[in-house]
Amino acid sequence: MNEYKDKYVDYLSDESKLQGYCDYIEFPTCEEEVVDLISNCSKEDITITVQGGRTGIVGGSVPQGGLLMNMSKMDKIIGIEGEILSVMPGVPLFAINEFVNREKKGYIFPVDSTEKTASIGGIFSTGARGPRNYHFGDSINYFKGIEVIDFSGVKHILSMKDEVNDYYKKEGREGIVTKLHIQLIKKFNHIWGIVFLFDSIKDIVGFSEDVKKSDIKNILSFEYISDSTIDLIQEFSTGMDKLKGVPTFDKGMHMIYTEIFSDNQDDIEMSAEMLMELAAEHHCDIEKALAVSTEDDLEKMANYRHAAAECCNMFIEHVKKIDEGITKLSTDISGITDICYFANLKTDIKYVIFGHLLDAHLHMNLLPQNYEEYMEAKEIIKNISVENYLKGATIFTEHGIGKIKQYIVDAINDSILTQNKEK
Ligand SMILES: Cc1cc2nc3c(=O)[nH]c(=O)nc-3n(C[C@H](O)[C@H](O)[C@H](O)COP(=O)(O)OP(=O)(O)OC[C@H]3O[C@@H](n4cnc5c(N)ncnc54)[C@H](O)[C@@H]3O)c2cc1C
Repeated sequence: MNEYKDKYVDYLSDESKLQGYCDYIEFPTCEEEVVDLISNCSKEDITITVQGGRTGIVGGSVPQGGLLMNMSKMDKIIGIEGEILSVMPGVPLFAINEFVNREKKGYIFPVDSTEKTASIGGIFSTGARGPRNYHFGDSINYFKGIEVIDFSGVKHILSMKDEVNDYYKKEGREGIVTKLHIQLIKKFNHIWGIVFLFDSIKDIVGFSEDVKKSDIKNILSFEYISDSTIDLIQEFSTGMDKLKGVPTFDKGMHMIYTEIFSDNQDDIEMSAEMLMELAAEHHCDIEKALAVSTEDDLEKMANYRHAAAECCNMFIEHVKKIDEGITKLSTDISGITDICYFANLKTDIKYVIFGHLLDAHLHMNLLPQNYEEYMEAKEIIKNISVENYLKGATIFTEHGIGKIKQYIVDAINDSILTQNKEK
């Protein structure tokens, strides 16, 4: 096996900014090489960390010794049969989208996690999902089969949903995914995106609740971007070409960015009107609402939403210069229906909130300015996670546990033990 060399230093971290180390690094190009590496490691009792595109934000692909197996050279698109595309695990999402656009016109791969350099193996292994998950449902629905080599070197060819599910979101702990068969679906004829701005959280809540109760059935995504997130994007996105043409939004405003779809122009116009009326009832200045419908403009707005996450990571890179020990700190909680829970957090540490509002799946990123604040922020994230877990929320969803969130798992186990003792 290749001994680790300094030239591979970039492979020792992901977007969590956790720093790792390893003894060996390998870039297998085919399944046989994966099997050989597993066999060598098992003889010598060497642990394996699997790595995809390194865009994970919890340190799952960051090695802590042993062999780092990077999958980026298993990057072939194998072929397409009907609506099923077969790919190797190292293919990035942008390459899948480009291929489908070119070779299977009128179709899309509906998993739209916003970081397009993520590999399909990483997307499967973290259960990544994006804003359009609101309509399309969990990404597992679009993985129709996989091939996995487990850590005894045994190959599993799986196509039943339950079997595939056994490896979904497992973050490379159960085996190495070497092939995936993914489902493509037909594109909608029309998609419109609409930006609504509100100056109070109360109005955002009222608007969202009314949309949920309404007859509007063709919502594709419904994203919340807090006032502090808009400020952060403003501060860190200077020079991001992909945001050129997106207007500057007023300070102090909260945003809902929603997309609606239809194969029929009349339906989409009717839904847009209904949304406008509901927004106006909740004090949104409709004159300032922004509607987009071309692929270019929709992409720009998707880039804007993506910039929320990117700018958090840029912020962490910036404060890392003050203290190397600082890593990304974010929640990943599903099931908190009340946005005010996050918005009223009692802390002086800067934080931003964005995410999938109608599915009650918001992300909060704490942005500590120094190590002291970082330690306080870690505690806040832990307390929020434990409290909400005990109330039945799902606290590790699309980003996983990795290494960064292991301390939260330990805290949950401790509280369960304490609760059991008290019974
Ligand atoms: C700016 C930004 C925006 C983001 N937006 C989103 C978003 O909208 N939605 C979302 O869900 N996530 C998002 N993410 C997080 C990240 O893109 C996802 O977690 C993604 O799925 C990671 O894929 P990757 O290929 O980069 O995997 P890595 O980070 O390399 O690895 C992630 C995990 O998958 C495992 N793994 C990778 N490949 C394999 C394999 N072949 N077999 C077995 N295990 C494997 C690794 O061991 C690790 O535990 C974002 C990240 C950034 C930086």
